[in-house]
Amino acid sequence: MDSIDIVFLGTGSAIPTPSRNHNAIIFNYKNKNFLVDCGEGTQRQIRKAKLNMCKITDILITHMHGDHIFGLPGLLHTMSKTGYNRELMIYCPKGAGKKMKQFLDLTGVHGIDYKIKEVRGKFIDNPYFSISSLALNHDVTCNGYMFEEKDRLRIDKKKLSKYNIKGKEVGKLIRKKNVKIDGKLIKYKDLTFLEKGRKISFVFDTKYCSNVDKLIKNSDLAIMEGVFLGSTSVGKEMSKRYKHLTLEESAKAGKKGKVKELIISHISQRYEFKEKFLLKEAKKIYKNVKIASDLMKVTI
Ligand SMILES: [Zn+2]
Ligand SMILES: [Zn+2]
Repeated sequence: MDSIDIVFLGTGSAIPTPSRNHNAIIFNYKNKNFLVDCGEGTQRQIRKAKLNMCKITDILITHMHGDHIFGLPGLLHTMSKTGYNRELMIYCPKGAGKKMKQFLDLTGVHGIDYKIKEVRGKFIDNPYFSISSLALNHDVTCNGYMFEEKDRLRIDKKKLSKYNIKGKEVGKLIRKKNVKIDGKLIKYKDLTFLEKGRKISFVFDTKYCSNVDKLIKNSDLAIMEGVFLGSTSVGKEMSKRYKHLTLEESAKAGKKGKVKELIISHISQRYEFKEKFLLKEAKKIYKNVKIASDLMKVTI
């Protein structure tokens, strides 16, 4: 199984802090590199993380708020100057495509071939994985995303070594076909096992809704906003007014969705250097939780 590296490039929310840049996460799968959101300063964060921005293949934008998109023109400008030579896909929510085009046109980005596509539902689907988006409930059109690796039939090498099965016959087993060796029928089911595909979900910014649950359900890794503390009256009021998830709501959803690991990001500047306090609050609800920090790397 190829490892998937997820790097948190920015973990702050609307206002950046000395320790937290605006929202952006990058992850790889085989020869693909997906950037989720691109807040201001993301290109510098990519350099700090020692990643190559010219390897980005797809950008998934959750919504058209500044803390999620203001880094795009700068990133595209630099990519055009550093030899980016493929078509870059920029995905955004339904109804946001025109605005995205105007935004990039206005900043005069050129020298890079990019395509903007509004998406909802499954929009990437190949033999290895799919990526889908579901509508969230924010004050502008907003997408949550989920990456789902396909389940794969794998050969049990220990069992295989008992038989003299080689080459083409192994390929047949993988394609769910039984094989005959020395006149004896060997069933593919006896020599294979199903390897469960991994799931990563991204939930920014939204008030709690049923699609939050659908996105994160059974994720190996769920990355969710936890912009305010719901245990304070100010946090509760702010998250309601601006349609955000509180840390507690995300922790509860993570527990309900049985996510293997929940990482809370998109943290308000009011909690600068108070991560221990946030973690304590979240852990009261769900033990498999972490608070994201800039340039943190997670491998699954
Ligand atoms: Zn935001
Ligand atoms: Zn927002």
